[in-house]
Amino acid sequence: MSEPDRPAYRPATQLVHGGQMRSNFEETAEALYLTSGFVYESAEQAEATFAGTVQHYQYSRFGNPTVSMLEARLAALEGAEACRATATGMAAVHATMLSHLKSGDRLVASRALFGSCHWIVSTLLPRYGIEAEFVDGGDLAQWERALSKPAAMVLLETPSNPMLDIIDLKAVCDLAHHAGALVVVDNVFATPLLQRPMEFGADIVVYSATKHFDGQGRVLGGAILAKQAWVNDVLQPFIRNTGPSISPFNAWTILKGLETLHLRVPAMCRSAAAIADMLAEHPAIDRPLYPFRADHPQQALAMQQMGAGGTLVTFEVKGGKAAAFRVLNALRLIRVSNNLGDSKSLVTHPATTTHMRVGAEERARLGITDGTIRLSVGLEDVGDLIEDLAIALVQA
Ligand SMILES: *Cc1c(COP(=O)(O)O)cnc(C)c1O
Repeated sequence: MSEPDRPAYRPATQLVHGGQMRSNFEETAEALYLTSGFVYESAEQAEATFAGTVQHYQYSRFGNPTVSMLEARLAALEGAEACRATATGMAAVHATMLSHLKSGDRLVASRALFGSCHWIVSTLLPRYGIEAEFVDGGDLAQWERALSKPAAMVLLETPSNPMLDIIDLKAVCDLAHHAGALVVVDNVFATPLLQRPMEFGADIVVYSATKHFDGQGRVLGGAILAKQAWVNDVLQPFIRNTGPSISPFNAWTILKGLETLHLRVPAMCRSAAAIADMLAEHPAIDRPLYPFRADHPQQALAMQQMGAGGTLVTFEVKGGKAAAFRVLNALRLIRVSNNLGDSKSLVTHPATTTHMRVGAEERARLGITDGTIRLSVGLEDVGDLIEDLAIALVQA
């Protein structure tokens, strides 16, 4: 989205214009090419396209113009060479790992991962002979030990779900590269507006576009951002032949969602910070976690890596599961849901939902208690959100 004689556009502009390819009808909005396939002018053109000597869309499993616009917009925003969009965030994580790893490889991952990412690492990869080792992401000594042996890939999430732990991106990337590993960062909680992992050395950044990118709870999507050569040689053949491709309709919806990302995310962060401050003063709360608050154990690191504290607040209600459930059930505006990054504020009880399957022992290790509540702060008036929480917390 910039010509050689012009400076690169700033993020807000990239989010509105990045990647747009207008058809000969000169439409204002991005066109929705809801088509599975494409026709050729001749048999010769089809042959040349398949031989790779002519650029022509072939089939929407391989590529689609609406999807290309989304990919170009995300690449510009991230400052990445290339992007491939996928049907879901999990398809992005899965394709990244399975396209690159092979039997005999080692993967090192932070323990605090999104539930399905944890399942792929702990259950799926070992079936294919890929050794997986978990470390406590905040403990550099554990990373150092795990990466003293060769590894093919490192997977981490910062801030993590749901405890908002921060991992030192620069330090882990340095250790990983020394071990020969590619670093994959799941950047869903931060969004590219608050944190750009590639600036700290990350090789691949993955997103669930279902969250802040769509931001209005409509469609599923995912994205993988990386170097052009890796995308061409490793990822593209995998996507082309296994089919985790995104629907053009979903890509179009996410393109339109991105246009307001730079307005939504900072507004949600401001409300999240105000809610964390209110919760910190509340007698029914044991500890609120918010990366930019002085009482977050890694505030300094968060402030080095992130532009704001994020759109999520995690807190612990005194009185365990019963008290947490009473609070959840007394909320009227904020609704119980496991989604996040939505314009509607959503609250979840990780121990009985997103992290039920990891087991009590692993939950304890992650710091998730029966009183832990994760709040995804939306776009409502913060005064209404604080009132809803205050009334519900009386029930604790
Ligand atoms: C939601 C989420 C995913 C998975 O994305 P889907 O679009 O639901 O498949 C992966 N990682 C994190 C951190 C998430 O929040």
